[in-house]
Amino acid sequence: MAERDGRAAEGGAPEGAGGGLADIRITNCHVHLFTARHVPRAYPHPALAWIRRVPGLITGAAGLARAAGFEEGAARLSRLGRFAAAGRAGGQRAILAAIERQYPAGTRFVVLPMDLGGIGHGPAERDLRAQHDELARLARDPRRGGRVIPFATLLPDRPGAVAEVRRCVEDLGFRGLKLYPRLGYPPDHPVLMAEVYPYCVRHGLPVISHCSRGGVRGRGVSRAEADRWSAPQAFVPVLDAFPGLRVCLAHFGGQADWRAYVEDGLSPDDPAEGERNWQVAIRRMITAGDGRGGRRFPGLWTDVSYTLFEFEEFVPFLRLFLEDARLAGRVLFGSDFYMTRLERLSERAVCFRLRVALGEALFRQIAETNPRAWLGEEPLAATGRAAAPAAALAAG
Ligand SMILES: [Zn+2]
Repeated sequence: MAERDGRAAEGGAPEGAGGGLADIRITNCHVHLFTARHVPRAYPHPALAWIRRVPGLITGAAGLARAAGFEEGAARLSRLGRFAAAGRAGGQRAILAAIERQYPAGTRFVVLPMDLGGIGHGPAERDLRAQHDELARLARDPRRGGRVIPFATLLPDRPGAVAEVRRCVEDLGFRGLKLYPRLGYPPDHPVLMAEVYPYCVRHGLPVISHCSRGGVRGRGVSRAEADRWSAPQAFVPVLDAFPGLRVCLAHFGGQADWRAYVEDGLSPDDPAEGERNWQVAIRRMITAGDGRGGRRFPGLWTDVSYTLFEFEEFVPFLRLFLEDARLAGRVLFGSDFYMTRLERLSERAVCFRLRVALGEALFRQIAETNPRAWLGEEPLAATGRAAAPAAALAAG
């Protein structure tokens, strides 16, 4: 570890151009560019629709709500403020320009759309097809030089949803699929199992699925239902049926479960407690053996997006977890921009702190090597080994 730390300290100049770090090509595996035009006017509540036109007011209201202890309300208002600002700022291209400033030149971004126009809050100004088309234009823009890696999304119950995914892949050159079960479907939805996952396996497309207790819910979806569909265990039938599918459970289980793990720990008297903590469950699933020298879930990955923004608290744990070679080969760097806009530290600041804390070798593995394997750009056999020797995993 000391050697890695030394290299990180020497190469710590925060610039892509001329800063000595130009030899690393970061892939941020989790960003969003969708705008106010892709969000229903009536989301999350019709009474709030008008407020979106006045983002300054929203920011003030969010601050008030936070001060008064209404954390969830504040978070919602803040999101609305960002949506409104982003929508006025000129679409997905403008948001991309904002995120590119935060990273070294040449950094690639996996862009994840969302279909919020089909979750019971009324239609969005621009439908999913238009959102996909705009993203495709951005990805093809020669000035972007292949730095945008577009993913498609779908709500499996919507008519024509599978055809739209095929159009994205076959006509527009999209590279993977984004799922968001909290919007109203289980990961083993019959349409996904019968049509979408087999298609992804045939075309070598990775899947990423929101795996955190926070986030948007479809109208009429209870919190308990949303959690049941988002839980790591909900993917077991999928992973069992499609061992060749590369699935990333995003957010490494989410901030709430990380906080519970860090602050409350695990009871030695209740072995099942770890299963209920999504961060622990993901680690266990990734490292589980199949009893024959292989892996129980060979296609399972996770990303550190959003969750790493509680950096100071969580990163020592992340670093310890990554001492396990299997885990180190299955964790992806991602940020969840622009959900991170109102956090205390900029994305740039968090990214560099993470890099120094993990050391250059581990950071390179999660930000450069692993994303290439997950995206299918190089054979899996070439990765999955940490530079560090495997060490005993932390308790739990
Ligand atoms: Zn996200």
